[in-house]
Amino acid sequence: MTKIISGSELSTKLIEEKLVPRVKELNKKSVQPKLVVMLVGDHVASASYVRQKEKSAEKAGIIAKTWRYDSEVSEEKILAEIDKINADKDIHGVIVQLPLPDHISIDKILDKIDPAKDVDGFTPENIGKLFLGQKCLECCTPKGIITMLESSGENLSGKKVVVIGRSNIVGKPVAALALNKSATVTVCHSRTQNLNKELKNADIIIVAVGIPEFLKGEQVPEGCTIIDVGIHRKEGGGLCGDVEFESVSKKAKAISPVPGGVGPMTVYSLIENTIEAAESI
Ligand code: NAP
Repeated sequence: MTKIISGSELSTKLIEEKLVPRVKELNKKSVQPKLVVMLVGDHVASASYVRQKEKSAEKAGIIAKTWRYDSEVSEEKILAEIDKINADKDIHGVIVQLPLPDHISIDKILDKIDPAKDVDGFTPENIGKLFLGQKCLECCTPKGIITMLESSGENLSGKKVVVIGRSNIVGKPVAALALNKSATVTVCHSRTQNLNKELKNADIIIVAVGIPEFLKGEQVPEGCTIIDVGIHRKEGGGLCGDVEFESVSKKAKAISPVPGGVGPMTVYSLIENTIEAAESI
C-alpha cells in the first residue's frame, strides 16, 4: 500500500499541536504575532494563496493582514512601505506575494526587508545562513518539505535524495536542507544529461520542475518516496503536480498529492516562521 503524505492533514495537526501552544505562550507575555502580506495587482492565483495564508494564520491564532496595492504602484512606494514595516515593532513578519509586476525589482525588495522579519526566508542573509547550516528563517517550501518527510517517518541521514529543479526558492534550498540532515544529495536540472540514471538509486525524489506530470512511473525506483512540489491548473479543470500521480504512486512507498501536499506545508512554515520571528524579539 502506497502511503499518501497529506500536507493538508499534517499541517492542520501541527498547527493545533505545535503552533497554537507557542502563540498562547507569546500571548501570556503580551506578544501577539503579526504577519503582513503585501499583495500587488490582481493576480488570481496570488489572491487565492493569500486567502489560504490568512485562514491558516487565523487557525494558529496569529494576526495576518493583507496590504493591497494597485498593479501600477511604484517601486519607491513599496520600498517605503517596507521601511515602515521594518520600523513597526508590532509587526513580526512580512512577505511580498510573488509574482510582482515587471517594474518592481524583486532583488531591491529583498534587500530592503529586515532579515529578522523575512518570514518567507528569501533574503540573501537568510538564504546564506541556511546554506551554512546556521539558525535562520528558512524558506517556506523547502522547510515544509523537510517537515513533511520527517513527520512521515523518513530519517534523511544517509539517504540518497534526488532533487529535480535548481530554483532559488525550491530546488537549491531544499537540497541544502537535505544535505544539512546528512542526506546524499543530487540536484538535477534542464542540462542534466541522463536524469533516469540519477534517479535509479534514489530513496527520495523531490520534483520541482514546473512541468505538469513531468515524472512518470517508469522513471522511479520501486519503494522510493516522492515529494511533488509542482502545481498546475489542468485544462479540463482541477489541479495536477509535476508528477504523474497514477503511474508513480504504483511504484512509490510514499507520495505527496497535489493538491493537499506541499502547498499546505508551505503555508504552515510561513506561520511557523512568523511565530519564530515573534519569539526572537
Ligand atoms: P522554476 O524556477 O521554473 O525552476 C524549474 C527548474 O526545473 C529549473 O531549475 C529547471 O532547470 C528545471 N527543469 C526544467 N525542465 C527540466 C527538465 N526537462 N529536466 C530537468 N529539470 C528541468 O520553478 P520553481 O519556482 O522551482 O517551481 C517549480 C514548481 O513548483 C512550479 O510548478 C511551481 O508552481 C511550484 N511551486 C509550488 C510551491 C508550493 O508551495 N506548492 C512553491 C513554489 C513553487 P534549469 O535551471 O536548467 O532551467
